[in-house]
Amino acid sequence: MQDEKVIPTMCASHCGGACLLKVHVRDGIITRIETDDGEEPQLRGCLRGRAYRQRVYAPDRLLYPLKRVGQRGEGKFERISWDEALDTTARELLRVRDTYGPASIILAQMTGDVCSLNNFGAMDRLLSMAGGYTSPWGVTSFQGGVYASLVTYGTWFCSNTRDDLLNSRLIIMWGWDPASTVTGPNTCWYLAQAREAGARIICVDPRYTDSAATFAHQWIPIRPGTDTAMLLAMAHVMIREKLHDQAFLSTYTVGFDRFSDYVMGAEDGLPKTPRWAEPITGVPAATIEQLAREYATTRPAALMTGIAPGRTAYGEQYHRAAITLAAMTGNVGVHGGDAGARAWESVMGGFPYPVNSMISAIPRVSNPVEKAFPRTAGPLFYRRPRIHFSRLADAILKGKAGGYHADYKALVVAQCNYLVQFPNSNKIARALMSLEFMVL
Ligand code: SF4
Repeated sequence: MQDEKVIPTMCASHCGGACLLKVHVRDGIITRIETDDGEEPQLRGCLRGRAYRQRVYAPDRLLYPLKRVGQRGEGKFERISWDEALDTTARELLRVRDTYGPASIILAQMTGDVCSLNNFGAMDRLLSMAGGYTSPWGVTSFQGGVYASLVTYGTWFCSNTRDDLLNSRLIIMWGWDPASTVTGPNTCWYLAQAREAGARIICVDPRYTDSAATFAHQWIPIRPGTDTAMLLAMAHVMIREKLHDQAFLSTYTVGFDRFSDYVMGAEDGLPKTPRWAEPITGVPAATIEQLAREYATTRPAALMTGIAPGRTAYGEQYHRAAITLAAMTGNVGVHGGDAGARAWESVMGGFPYPVNSMISAIPRVSNPVEKAFPRTAGPLFYRRPRIHFSRLADAILKGKAGGYHADYKALVVAQCNYLVQFPNSNKIARALMSLEFMVL
């Protein structure tokens, strides 16, 4: 029996926590997993990360390549060798490329559990070196937040880092439950430290979340999908009571006059008062007024906006309203404040955690299919001839006849479950049925 080795690594979960895992290995078998027990702040893993051993040795984990033997969708597969799997995949992708052109191959990738090497970057590189492929664009998870950040700030890296919560006197967790979703290294540790240091913490959320129970001095339940109305009503209070930071707005922003006209009803005859918002949101007008005054008068204050409220129809307006409130209170670009854009930015944003597991270490090569199309100043990741994630199924079903750049015949799926993670599963199922080849 060999001595036990302890291999330091990180948890590759999509939560972005990037926690330290110390994996004990004996005779090639993981015996247990510990986490950070060093100096504070520790990158201490949660139960999900520390239970990775169960995942590695799960009895239903796929360990070998399988080939479909029945009809597509029938669920019948047989085990094949790695040689057969690789030969079949190479042969089919080359056949599709040579018959229909490289753009007829789509690589559908997302950012599931990833590592620096074992991620979609490898497939991107392979397909690019073999002539290219069609790529999706967009962010299925938080497109509303990304859009709002880009049109307002010109970047999606605009949040303060987690350690800066220690400088906040007020933290508003809006639709944000880091006790469950983590959203970046050490978020809960800094929240706990901020509370101990005297920061007041308020949670606006339909659910009494673990974060509300653990950190919040006040929980404000709100009807799902009505966040924009409450934020507008808070803006109404600030404008009416002249609590907004006009100096900040005049110096750093444009368009506040038009926003003010809309909020106060000068534009459409409908003032967005707390009384107007109360029946929409289910939040008492007095509570909306209290939160508006508190946010406007407590400096610095961090409005930490989760991405869930933006996952609604017109969800980008929630993010834009929150960003506007952050500017109205002068909390953008100051220690202890936050840009209000999307409380997940520091995962990829900068010091002290400039990179995480979502960034591939595989060197990229340019995709020949995209070479003919110059980069544009369009939305994030957009570039002709890419297809937005929400339109992939439509593109597969219609191809050139539907105005797309190619007729799509093969699909390579990496790090996602395309059928269940994207909108309109029925349409996706129809699209998958029409493909000549698919590999996951
Ligand atoms: S918090 Fe996230 S990164 Fe850390 S151990 Fe848990 S799942 Fe893994």
